[in-house]
Amino acid sequence: MDENNDAEETSVERRLFEMPRQRRKENWLCIKLIAAEDIDKRKKYYSSDAIGAYCTLCESRISFSSSNPSNVARHMNAKHEDILSKYKEDKEKDK
Ligand SMILES: [Zn+2]
Repeated sequence: MDENNDAEETSVERRLFEMPRQRRKENWLCIKLIAAEDIDKRKKYYSSDAIGAYCTLCESRISFSSSNPSNVARHMNAKHEDILSKYKEDKEKDK
């Protein structure tokens, strides 16, 4: 039995926060960052507080650190190209 692992998986949801200051918004449409603790609503979280990233569509963790954020873009390109191209399309329409 590994109940500890299960506990960690369910508690991830309570530790998710939005990436602040998104330079490339399309990479964060389904990705959130994971804090080391349950989110305190009164506190402001930065990308440097993240111990990893989480894809809400795949429900899987992606390794992430503020000094090396490129895994998120790699995940989006590999798994969610449809989201990226739809985002670009919609952006074109707005012009
Ligand atoms: Zn994904």
